[in-house]
Amino acid sequence: MQKQKSSHIIVPEGLTKVLLHACCAPCSSAIVEWLLAHGIEPVIYYFNPNIYPQEEYEIRKQESKRHAESLGIRWLDDDSADSPTPCCGYGHEQWREAVKGLEREPERGKRCEACFYYRLLATAKKAQELGITWFATTLASSRWKNLEQVNAAGMRAEATLSNQQSAISNQLPHVNFWAQNWRKDGLQDRRNELLKEYGFYNQLYCGCEFAVAFGKAVASDAAHGIKATPASALPNTTWTSCVGGPNKG
Ligand code: SF4
Repeated sequence: MQKQKSSHIIVPEGLTKVLLHACCAPCSSAIVEWLLAHGIEPVIYYFNPNIYPQEEYEIRKQESKRHAESLGIRWLDDDSADSPTPCCGYGHEQWREAVKGLEREPERGKRCEACFYYRLLATAKKAQELGITWFATTLASSRWKNLEQVNAAGMRAEATLSNQQSAISNQLPHVNFWAQNWRKDGLQDRRNELLKEYGFYNQLYCGCEFAVAFGKAVASDAAHGIKATPASALPNTTWTSCVGGPNKG
């Protein structure tokens, strides 16, 4: 049974705390604000090894951390001392393995599905480690992403973890994916307002080296004398578009 706390955002019965996978601070901001206003405790988990190059990954990570600290809410990534399994941080090479063979996929194609699943499976596992029984993602707030793909990846991550648990008969709690369209109820407009209020870093491409906007950013940097890894230096690289305008989380 579910109860509705506003016109479009449906809170599952019993949900009071959620591990929120955050792709970036701008996409998190309005969602976190909504959760807090509705008595739900968010814990932010930054897990985005898709982002390239690492400097970009670090910038988005620090902005996400700054956002959480400004609100006094818990934030963690896999390097955080209070993470149950602190480990290896960036992990871009492992992510590349997860999308191997899909480098030439078009926007919203199978590479993005694999990318969503990879990140949400890690989120589901982290939620279980933390004893948080619900997880959600800010990926479901971006109009540049396919919401059905995001939600399918979340449900698949939930099912994968559940099957793994059954196979080893452990006592860890079942975790549930909160499939939600976070563009509703004015959150898209609020996101843009908060982006300005916080002065968040305003990224120009989705994240990985296979997005066409990344190629454009490299070209722009080069025009301004800024060194960056050329597309030709990246193996199996074809520029495809995941995004279509500024502020592309
Ligand atoms: S374009 Fe974005 S969503 Fe698609 S694979 Fe790259 S980083 Fe992931």
